[in-house]
Amino acid sequence: MTNQSIREAAAGLFPGGVNSPVRSYRSVGGDPVPIARGQGPFVFDAEENRYIDFVGGFGPAILGHAHPAVTAAISLAAAEGLAFGALGPREVALAESIREATGLERLRFLNSGTEATMTAIRIARAATGRDLIVKFDGCYHGHSDGLLVKAGSGVATLGMSDSAGVPQAVAGLTAVLPYNDPAALMRWFDARGAETAAVIVESIPANVGILAPDPEFLETLQSLPRAHGALLIADEIITGFRLRRGLSGVLPAADLVTLGKIIGGGLPVGAVGGRADLLGLLAPEGPVYQAGTFSANPAVMAAGLATLEALTPAAYQRLDQVARHLENGLQAAVKRAGAPASVVRFGSMLSLFFRPAPPRDYAEAREADTAAFARFHRAMRQRGILIPPSQFETWFVSLAHNEPEIDAAVRAAAEALREALPA
Ligand SMILES: *Cc1c(COP(=O)(O)O)cnc(C)c1O
Repeated sequence: MTNQSIREAAAGLFPGGVNSPVRSYRSVGGDPVPIARGQGPFVFDAEENRYIDFVGGFGPAILGHAHPAVTAAISLAAAEGLAFGALGPREVALAESIREATGLERLRFLNSGTEATMTAIRIARAATGRDLIVKFDGCYHGHSDGLLVKAGSGVATLGMSDSAGVPQAVAGLTAVLPYNDPAALMRWFDARGAETAAVIVESIPANVGILAPDPEFLETLQSLPRAHGALLIADEIITGFRLRRGLSGVLPAADLVTLGKIIGGGLPVGAVGGRADLLGLLAPEGPVYQAGTFSANPAVMAAGLATLEALTPAAYQRLDQVARHLENGLQAAVKRAGAPASVVRFGSMLSLFFRPAPPRDYAEAREADTAAFARFHRAMRQRGILIPPSQFETWFVSLAHNEPEIDAAVRAAAEALREALPA
């Protein structure tokens, strides 16, 4: 099949021609690149054109694509049978490895990040006997009904859904506050603290590009909900095992933590973890129902184990060093081009915003010049560099990226910036 024949067949089969919206390239324009295979830092389209990949599967591919240890672990698991609907050895091994690295007392594995956040909220509501949830504008926690919500006009109003099909009765239980705004959080808790079950937040927001958390905001997040008897849920689905072996360390006081992406080694996964008493509320020990035919599937657990095994402290040092090289190269290219753009990096995750200064919240992120980003994306892919197809998705560097790939990406970016800027 050619790239075009794949796209044409998919257009009829799948809404928007894709099975997850951002893959459609709607926000950058042009034809989405269908990926047939990947190897290390590279992906190949159906016509064997090679790209240096900074999409990284939107987070999981921290070892690069088709890492031999991960491939071997999945093959072995497959050869031993895949669907038993029973407890097995691999889930115990992976959970022990995660517990050792994170300090989470107990865990439950699920099949996606969406399931993890949905379950964390159900636990929080059961634990507190309260219904209201607070999230932050621009933070993404998957697509469950109660989390697809954006702010009403005032900060202390309850939400309206971003999506059709979500009942107002559900969306109305979620409040959306501006990120990095401790005063807004204080006003909320003054008014509705006694009804609030939990505050959920990405430890480092990375679904609107990256927002750097202010220390004062992090402090308020970790003290205020607790003072009002509400829980703090740290969504570490991107940041868990991305920045260091274990959690990001940004919200050490979180009561519940959600994980996903990297811990599945490229296969579908989620996990909710935290205090033993809170996890003990889950069925069959407690009254909170949650289940899954495929939960802790042996192939997923095998891929996760092989991935975590490769993620040594030295691996994170190397990731940081390679990603810093990319950051420095991009900064220099931005400066030389005189581009109104900024680079934000935490470890091996990076954003290039078409906005002169890095944004502090979603309102500022939205000021980015998305048309310039779209031109930049096209110019990069013409040069064999694949970055996420949206200004608001984060670039990921993997352990398979070496200096030649970074240098090639920086050279391409220097040219692409000039093409992207209005003459
Ligand atoms: C990806 C992501 C999710 C959702 O995970 P899925 O596996 O796509 O359901 C939730 N929270 C954050 C922070 C994410 O990045």
